[in-house]
Amino acid sequence: MKALMMQQPLLVSSLLTHAERHHGEQEIVSKRVEGDVHRYRFRDFAQRARQMANALAELGVLRGDRVGTLAWNGYRHMELYYAVSGSGAVLHTLNPRLHLDQLVYMIEHAEDRVLFFDIDLLPIVEAIAARLASPIIFVAMTDRAHVPTSIALTAAVLCYEDLIGTSDDHFEWPQFDENAASSLCYTSGTTGNPKGVLYSHRSTVLHTFAAALPDALNCSAWDTILPVVPMFHVNAWGLPYVACMIGARLVFPGPWLKGDALYELIEAERVTMSAGVPTVWQGLLAHVNDQQLSFSSMRRTVIGGAACPPAMIAELQEVHCVDVIHAWGMTELSPLGTVGSLKPHQVSMSPEERLAVQARQGRAVFGVDMKIVDADGEEMPWDGITTGELMVRGPWVIDMYFRGAEAGPNRDGWFPTGDIARIDADGFMQITDRAKDVIKSGGEWISSIEIEHVASLHPEVASAACIAARHHKWDERPLLLVVKKPGSTATADELLAFFDGKVARWCKPDAVVFMDAIPLGATGKVLKNKLREQFRDYLLTA
Ligand code: AMP
Repeated sequence: MKALMMQQPLLVSSLLTHAERHHGEQEIVSKRVEGDVHRYRFRDFAQRARQMANALAELGVLRGDRVGTLAWNGYRHMELYYAVSGSGAVLHTLNPRLHLDQLVYMIEHAEDRVLFFDIDLLPIVEAIAARLASPIIFVAMTDRAHVPTSIALTAAVLCYEDLIGTSDDHFEWPQFDENAASSLCYTSGTTGNPKGVLYSHRSTVLHTFAAALPDALNCSAWDTILPVVPMFHVNAWGLPYVACMIGARLVFPGPWLKGDALYELIEAERVTMSAGVPTVWQGLLAHVNDQQLSFSSMRRTVIGGAACPPAMIAELQEVHCVDVIHAWGMTELSPLGTVGSLKPHQVSMSPEERLAVQARQGRAVFGVDMKIVDADGEEMPWDGITTGELMVRGPWVIDMYFRGAEAGPNRDGWFPTGDIARIDADGFMQITDRAKDVIKSGGEWISSIEIEHVASLHPEVASAACIAARHHKWDERPLLLVVKKPGSTATADELLAFFDGKVARWCKPDAVVFMDAIPLGATGKVLKNKLREQFRDYLLTA
């Protein structure tokens, strides 16, 4: 029997029309690359998104066309999120920190028709333009007075504010199949070419509902949200959509992501929640501790993209009264998969037990199903001990990569994540490693994340990374790379002794090497492949 309910496609534009009608007064604050702070309301934002939709049509952008952005977190980028997807084109966000070869590859692979860019990124745009085989339209995301004059870009650079200013603000958001593509984000794979993940309107709206839930990112109209996670990193984890769905105030940091700039913004705008990778919070905490500051408004922060060290969770919660929401996800998952919100019976645990639960990557949000499997694909038990490859499925999980090989990533309806994990009886998943980072020592697997977690608990360790080093007898053994806190006098032997009683004896690192800095990738994650390359000839013999 067919149901008798309205048929309304789940479209990204519906989030915008909701925000305008029901939260028109809510504010969006942006630090601009021009150097000032910009403020306006959701109703202004919606109007300008409609004007930009008209401008895109004038530029000849058709349904399904890809429109690239090379930009930081700001209100104009947010307008493009809605103007591009809402009018039926596909928003392709690009990470300016990627290598030029990768950017050119992505733009050509996606066949972007237009590239919108923040003016401070002009040198990258010029380098891209010199390499592109086919011409595309360049739009500087600024006003006429700030449009950069570029000799390299002889094809005139259009001005964002001119496009808006000359466009009508009447625009009917088209209604179309919710399975149409809305945005495109490439995984910055460490081997081979980047692969495109093509989200749909339906997957995006469903992901938004789930992300906002109390036991997920827990967002409401009472929040002032600061997405530190860039809008080119999996759609800023969905926060630009969540804010419209629930009417939360938004604060965008522009390119200023250092600890001091973030702290000032958090305090000045009374931010209540934020989201970012652990390295961002490392910088923020270093500044706050150094200057003996405290947070007067921030109540919680989402940390994901890489394992959050338990020491960081403890410090944020116990010293700064900021609750940590530890989340796991992937570009291929839109990105949200699991969130570490406690269950009621876990609240009575001892602080140490609770911290151990929070250091795990959390439980599945509705919409994502998961399992762990062995090498033969057999499902493994949820005993909190057995590890296996993590497989996921759900309406916002990738089926095929964009223009991918015939066989997509899909295995019998499940997506193999490439992460090794265990799941406990409460359904809390814990990533023990990326499959390629696991340390294979004499037939046993050692979790590099576990070693890093223990190292992070040492009071004189600023950051740590653990990789496999070649060993004459055991094939691979853990090598710990450490950046010490300023003024630390800790020795390698002291750090190694710190592991006694905290990990099994055979998991203890064999050696410690001190470094000035640990190399980070384009999304702020430790570049383990680079470290492995650097220490390729480091042979452990003892
Ligand atoms: P990306 O698609 O670039 O965001 O990378 C996704 C990968 O980041 C996952 O497959 C994990 O290996 C890793 N990752 C994301 N969140 C976490 C987390 N909370 N803990 C450990 N690893 C994570």
